[in-house]
Amino acid sequence: MPHAFLIRAPRLTLPLLAALLLAGCQRDDPPAEAMVIEGHIFGTTYRVNVAGVEAAQRPALEQAVRQVLERDDREISTYKPDSLISRFNRYPGTDPQPISADMADVITTALRIGTLTRGKMDITVGPLVNLWGFGPDKQPVKTPTDQQIAQARQRVGLRHLTVSARADGQWLQKDLPGLYVDLSTVGEGYATDHLARLMEQRGIGNYLVSVGGAVLTRGVNASGQPWRVAIQKPTDRENAVQAIVNLQGHGISTSGSYRNYYELDGKRISHIIDPDTGRPITHKLVSATVIAPTATLADTWDTGLMLLGTEQALAVAKQQGLAVYLVTREGDRFTSYMSPQFRAFLLDEEK
Ligand code: FAD
Repeated sequence: MPHAFLIRAPRLTLPLLAALLLAGCQRDDPPAEAMVIEGHIFGTTYRVNVAGVEAAQRPALEQAVRQVLERDDREISTYKPDSLISRFNRYPGTDPQPISADMADVITTALRIGTLTRGKMDITVGPLVNLWGFGPDKQPVKTPTDQQIAQARQRVGLRHLTVSARADGQWLQKDLPGLYVDLSTVGEGYATDHLARLMEQRGIGNYLVSVGGAVLTRGVNASGQPWRVAIQKPTDRENAVQAIVNLQGHGISTSGSYRNYYELDGKRISHIIDPDTGRPITHKLVSATVIAPTATLADTWDTGLMLLGTEQALAVAKQQGLAVYLVTREGDRFTSYMSPQFRAFLLDEEK
């Protein structure tokens, strides 16, 4: 996979990268029915590979893909001041606000996994993410002070956010006017699931869909082979493949602390912030990959596990029966841990 193909190294997202590599190298001369639709959204890339679709359907499919992604962008982007979630974040009141059924689902999932990670995976962590310079706000030139961190933490907490379903629709409510919901960690999986739903609605049974680091595949590629998705080695220097999986209709997502970071006062600052300390994580777990029935679940759990650190992540993975692949780093030494559920997805030659 040439580097030039990628748009932004710090947001390089691992399973996708290798998925493209492997999907593209099955045959030298792909058959006519292989179709690839790709572009940029959410500050990252999206890709749809389909097999067995007539070329004449391409313009309509391209347009529908774009519509799905743009609708999600208008709903959940904190990078768009006029998105639904940005308007909710700015809203000074605490009475319930209407949201779509899809938004209610993803926020409910995020709150549930937040609880299962003891509040570490916290979609209200936005003020801290922004303080450390990873949201739409600029990177700080100085390490935030204890006082700034304490002030931001006062506006964070899952308990301040509620989703309710009523006869007249779904509603989102905060009990702190300054609460700031940041769905960046789940958004790629959310949009990937919506692309998969679009394929199903159009009667397309063989596809690989992906937004950023979230991927979901179903059926086979244009060569009649299962889609092969690879997980990259966790380093910011190389693009070597660590493991290859056949997703069999599942979603996959990787969260890592080694690509999306910056250096400040001589320290590496990760984009994953521990809400308990208000500071970026520093532990040895450098990558968590999760395979789950939906890309949303995979994308939510991967960050949750990163926040927990190796031992607790393994304990939660065992308790919840998750398919996880964790990589830790000590010095230049990488060690990986794979749950039995994850091993079941490895290609036969990898087992
Ligand atoms: P993941 O590991 O999946 O998530 C890390 C992110 O989660 C952090 O960057 C932070 O935002 C958040 N986070 C940190 N700590 C926690 C915690 N404790 N609990 C929960 N969440 C936490 N980027 C741009 O540069 N420009 C854009 O226009 C843009 N638009 C976007 C629109 C949408 C709808 C979405 C969902 C994201 C957008 N992004 C944009 C953000 C960018 O794509 C993100 O970097 C990406 O979504 C985060 O995914 P990841 O795989 O890098 O990291």
